Amino acid sequence: MSWDTVIGLEIHVQLATKTKIFSGASTAYGAEPNTQACAIDLAMPGTLPVLNKQAVNYAIMFGLAIDAEIGQVSAFERKNYFYPDLPKGYQTTQLEKPIVGRGNVEIQLADGSTKNVRIHHAHLEEDAGKSLHEGNFSSKFSGIDLNRAGTPLIEIVSEPDMNNAEEAIAFAKKIHSIVTSLGICDGEMSQGSMRFDVNVSVKPSGTDILGTRTETKNLNSFKFMEEAIKREVERQIDVIEDGGAIVQETRLYNGETKVARSMRSKEEANDYRYFPCPDLLPVIVSDEQVAELRRNLPELPDARQARFTQQYNLSDYDAGILSSDAAMAKYFEAAASTCSDAKLAANWTIGELSARLNSEDLSITNSPVSAQQLAGLITRIADNSISGKMAKEVFEGIWAGEGSADEIIEARGLKQVSDSGALEQMVADVLAANQTMVDDYINTDEAKRKKKLGGFMGQIMKASKGQANPQQVNQILAKKLNELL
Ligand code: ADP
Ligand code: MG
Repeated sequence: MSWDTVIGLEIHVQLATKTKIFSGASTAYGAEPNTQACAIDLAMPGTLPVLNKQAVNYAIMFGLAIDAEIGQVSAFERKNYFYPDLPKGYQTTQLEKPIVGRGNVEIQLADGSTKNVRIHHAHLEEDAGKSLHEGNFSSKFSGIDLNRAGTPLIEIVSEPDMNNAEEAIAFAKKIHSIVTSLGICDGEMSQGSMRFDVNVSVKPSGTDILGTRTETKNLNSFKFMEEAIKREVERQIDVIEDGGAIVQETRLYNGETKVARSMRSKEEANDYRYFPCPDLLPVIVSDEQVAELRRNLPELPDARQARFTQQYNLSDYDAGILSSDAAMAKYFEAAASTCSDAKLAANWTIGELSARLNSEDLSITNSPVSAQQLAGLITRIADNSISGKMAKEVFEGIWAGEGSADEIIEARGLKQVSDSGALEQMVADVLAANQTMVDDYINTDEAKRKKKLGGFMGQIMKASKGQANPQQVNQILAKKLNELL
């Protein structure tokens, strides 16, 4: 029997406001525990929340980016539950009247096809604090850090429109790309700025009725998300094929230990006893406010991809990669606009640079090689001063802080020989010194001769200590050998 997978995502996005959603406390990451939670964040008696206008504007910007209906009147409600990281006993959130209504997000898949994922809604809410579990078996303790309490979030809820891990990851990445391009979230997943809850169910292939789903909460990396989905799909199929039934539950997946487990049975909305928050007025959004935000909306990933293909003559694929990450797009444009070859700038940004940043776990904003330095390197590749191989060496030098491409080329004597007189002489010398190879070349079938060129190239490059311009050598060599035939 074969099975269809059905996936819906709930995504928590921390909004990049300076202060909390209902107080003036800082949202900066990494402060000493419990130094940034104020009396309002903890809902101490006698305090009253005041809504952060920037958080509302950011939520509306997201709505505009996905072509959603913007709620002209939205309202906050209290979702009641106790957990150590929520000592106030309720989370202020939206339920009946979210700020962002139905919308659409288009995803691109590896085979080049696209798919639409419907957004059910997105609502504004406050984040809770964080439980920290420290120590080892002999002295284990848990602490609560409330700094995050009251940080503004939007929770984006998709329809169950995805059918495998690839689609879910493509959707998650697209949301990451949209919110970072809008500048409404810093996108730092390792700091918890985006967290994904993955709802998964399976059903017999081709049938319409959705199966019972589980929800795996709080995944904060695309890789862990992919692992969690694949394992959960397998687990559900095993349970059903063994004659069991899926229990609707909330699960956890630990990406470090690769252990998935059940956390609690799923609660229903009415368990939380939602009621309208008596401390906050409804949020009225005017047409002027929406129009103003729409006018100032930054460039979105899809538009940027289209512009990159046009303006820089890039393939759809390259433009897609470069424009999916706002910081990478900015870096690429800075490099491309200061060098003569945008295509090379794209290759180096996507290839060498990204690989190196990945392996050192660095983000492009912290790249040791600046866009200007990369442009300097590309200029020397494009004008044939250095070969591709030398370029890698120069890149390493820039990475290590040895200066600009020109400084490193000078200091290491890496200049490529492109003087045609000197190259002619080199080729002639190597041919004269290798008469047997030359005879062999002449006596070989025409069809197989091409293969023999590599041997000569190797000799010439060696004789020039790698500094001969390979394209030019190739031409001269072919010409000279032809003359001997
Ligand atoms: P609840 O209010 O109980 O959390 P929702 O209807 O709001 O449930 O759905 C929450 C998420 O679960 C949404 O992203 C939705 O797309 C997804 N979802 C709902 N039903 C299924 C299902 N059968 N399989 C997979 N995902 C589902
Ligand atoms: Mg829900």
